[in-house]
Amino acid sequence: MNLNRKKSRIIIIGANFAGLTAAGKLSKCHEVTVIDSKQDFQWTPNIHEILSDVKKETSLSLNLETIISRLGHCFINQTVSSIDGNLQTVTLNDKQTLNYDVLLIASGHTRSNYGIEGANKYAYGFRTADDVIKIHNDIEAILNTNKHPVNINIIGGGFTGVEVLGELLRKYATNKQMNFKVIDSAARLVQALPEKLSDDILSQCKNHQVSFHFNQTITEVKKSSIHFSNTESIESDLTIWSAGTKLPDYLNSINTQGLSNGLAVNTCLQISGFDNIFVAGDSATLEKPLAKQASIALDMGLHAAININRFCSQKTLKPLEVRTKPVLLSLGDINTYFIQGKLVLASPVLAAAKEAVYQFYMARLSTLLPIEQSVLGIAGRITLSTEKLLLAEILKLRPRVLLGRSKLL
Ligand SMILES: Cc1cc2nc3c(=O)[nH]c(=O)nc-3n(C[C@H](O)[C@H](O)[C@H](O)COP(=O)(O)OP(=O)(O)OC[C@H]3O[C@@H](n4cnc5c(N)ncnc54)[C@H](O)[C@@H]3O)c2cc1C
Repeated sequence: MNLNRKKSRIIIIGANFAGLTAAGKLSKCHEVTVIDSKQDFQWTPNIHEILSDVKKETSLSLNLETIISRLGHCFINQTVSSIDGNLQTVTLNDKQTLNYDVLLIASGHTRSNYGIEGANKYAYGFRTADDVIKIHNDIEAILNTNKHPVNINIIGGGFTGVEVLGELLRKYATNKQMNFKVIDSAARLVQALPEKLSDDILSQCKNHQVSFHFNQTITEVKKSSIHFSNTESIESDLTIWSAGTKLPDYLNSINTQGLSNGLAVNTCLQISGFDNIFVAGDSATLEKPLAKQASIALDMGLHAAININRFCSQKTLKPLEVRTKPVLLSLGDINTYFIQGKLVLASPVLAAAKEAVYQFYMARLSTLLPIEQSVLGIAGRITLSTEKLLLAEILKLRPRVLLGRSKLL
């Protein structure tokens, strides 16, 4: 690092949970440039709700240019194509090359197709609000053709796959035209979480038009079908890919350990060999790996910024205190689950807690916008949530159903 410079040149790649939190904490004494391929911050944990019209893209997004310039930093709306750790440069898709003294990688994960033929071309991704809007509109278009049945298949029964299924059931549970399948290579749902959670989700779905297909190896996805290693195949009018994620390819040059799950970092969030490159959020893997979770990405972003400020003023870095966090998983309007370690609590009432987390953080982040935009945004989100979620749920609420679904698993 060039210590003769008055201002350190800091580049942040990715401005969502980890990157934007770091940008908010980095001192204005530095020359901070934030790069993201998207124009907006996006609250990904609720994008699945676009499927059931409970959320709109605008209620999940905040403009990055406005926020970052109000933080006193520079925003570049571009995609990074490569990094050179030795030359300390970042190259963008438009061939522009930027020099840095300190780099923070906070570019999350991208979709992994595991090399399955046709997956990238024919299966719809589920990573951004744009992906979800496309699925929403294409399902409606298929329904308008009066096809019967409409086969919607979800590949991947992990956290995202379950939340997608829940929203589709919220919207189409009474539509007998619809036929859903969840397919996974594992023996059950949500493999990273307790088995009793999988059991409860399966039992809650018993009376719905959905079937689950475990221990399945997919060999090919075609436009209208999915093919398995046992030579069987099923029809598919729309295939949703929620099967896996990996590090973006542009990081290959510095991924010396070749992990697909994240760049290996020490507890101060630096990668080995380059002490001026920090990593936070889903892109990072500690020796004791943390869950790929928004709340953990927020903590890591904050910690990376604290350490970058200290690094620039040549102070000793602080190790990240590793803590697990609870997660809230929603199964549409059927149930919501609070999971902390082995503890699993189920209740439709927990949907209000998940909504409160979203409302709280969006309101907090929007304080970085001009006051009128911030107030309008908060009012819009609360109105939409009251109309589409809270009132809708209260009107449907039957005490016996509520009590029956509220339990410690
Ligand atoms: C459908 C879905 C539901 C989820 N539900 C939950 C939940 O309920 N609870 C929970 O805690 N977590 C949930 N998660 C996980 C959570 O969203 C992630 O853990 C979190 O987003 C990670 O934050 P991050 O900042 O590390 O990365 P991200 O939020 O992925 O942000 C990465 C940013 O980097 C940018 N970027 C990527 N590559 C480049 C490049 N080459 N050049 C420039 N910019 C780039 C992207 O545009 C993006 O803005 C969910 C995720 C999904 C997809």
